[in-house]
Amino acid sequence: LKALWFDGKSLSLTGRPTPKPRPGEALVRVRLAGICSTDLAILEGYMSFTGVPGHEFVGTVISADDPSLVGKRVVGEINCACQSCQFCLSGLQKHCPNRTVLGIMGRDGAFAEYVCLPVENLHKVPDEIDDEAAVFTEPLAACLQILEQVHIKPHHKVIILGDGRLAQLAARVVRLVGCSILVVGKHRAKLDLLDGLGASALLLDDFEPDHTADFVIEATGSPSGIKLALECIAPTGKVVVKSTFNKAPALPLSRLVIDEVSLVGSRCGPFEPALRLLGNGSVSTAELISAIYTIDRWQEAFDAAASTAIKVLIKLA
Ligand SMILES: [Zn+2]
Ligand SMILES: [Zn+2]
Repeated sequence: LKALWFDGKSLSLTGRPTPKPRPGEALVRVRLAGICSTDLAILEGYMSFTGVPGHEFVGTVISADDPSLVGKRVVGEINCACQSCQFCLSGLQKHCPNRTVLGIMGRDGAFAEYVCLPVENLHKVPDEIDDEAAVFTEPLAACLQILEQVHIKPHHKVIILGDGRLAQLAARVVRLVGCSILVVGKHRAKLDLLDGLGASALLLDDFEPDHTADFVIEATGSPSGIKLALECIAPTGKVVVKSTFNKAPALPLSRLVIDEVSLVGSRCGPFEPALRLLGNGSVSTAELISAIYTIDRWQEAFDAAASTAIKVLIKLA
């Protein structure tokens, strides 16, 4: 099968044997996969990962112990837990110390024609959600995690820092609360994708932080983002940190103490609500796709994802 392989230094298209599912796992034919900032960070050494990257996908189940899944279109949660440690037994599977993570830690990912995942990680995709929308389930779920972690109320003022892939989805989710949203980014064209969503948008150069936001969602992908977030947040506010960094940012931590500000780290989230929002049209994603490449043109795809493109997809079937 064709797969993109990262050897710790560079990515290349290789032929690999079709993976053999372990007990309890399904073999999935990947249809479409999305390139995320985490993938770009992995190519720079994040998590010291080697293997097949890629964790945002939609595919068709080829084989599984559960026959009702075979032939079905699915998306997959990326954390594969041991199900027997104290974290797993208390429902914190995504924090299992023995876990593997699809395309990020100890498990080959979705930039390949076939991928294996535990059956309990899979979610059937309803017919009304096409592949181009379903591939957003994983990052959309990660944005819904914000609402699982902090209680944003309709009267609150929320600032989203960043205008890329995750910031765009975060704006589409948080706006459902009815709160005031300001998105601050560096790219006019990306900010324009927020038109019609009821969120305000400002270029970073025109923005003056003034410690008035009840919540700041940091989705810049840059270490300077958290520092800016601490300049935006009101006393007792909460900063939700979404970016994954290779380098630790230098932070004015005394601000946390003086202003009693909380920093909330936020990772993966619930898939079923994400599928609901995609299925009923509450969250639109079509305008966020900037290009779809075949896997043979992976280099162009990664170049596009690293430049100003929003979501770049790789078509595998
Ligand atoms: Zn991702
Ligand atoms: Zn565990």
